[in-house]
Amino acid sequence: MKIADERKAEELQACYSCESNLGYPVVWEQIDDLMWRVEMRCPNCSSRRFKTVSRETMRVLHKNARLGREVIMKVLDGMIKTNMKESADKFFSALGKDLILPVDFSGRLL
Ligand SMILES: [Zn+2]
Repeated sequence: MKIADERKAEELQACYSCESNLGYPVVWEQIDDLMWRVEMRCPNCSSRRFKTVSRETMRVLHKNARLGREVIMKVLDGMIKTNMKESADKFFSALGKDLILPVDFSGRLL
């Protein structure tokens, strides 16, 4: 991938209305073998704009979107694990205090 394509993708991801640099492609269509028309959306202010970009720039945009999704999923996974640990800690604490009885699960077993 060319550095120019990376820079073009960064320019497209930078919002013209706010200071976000997290814009992402929402709609894209191939114009010909080399060019794509893409609609970019800012997740911060919801502004949208259309641009015509090269195939390589489109690949960079998709790669950046994939990497962004991976970061979000890792953060979400960490939040879920934290919440599960907190729930498990509360459950074990309640068990230790005899606050949980078999009747608490009777509805789930039927
Ligand atoms: Zn924006």
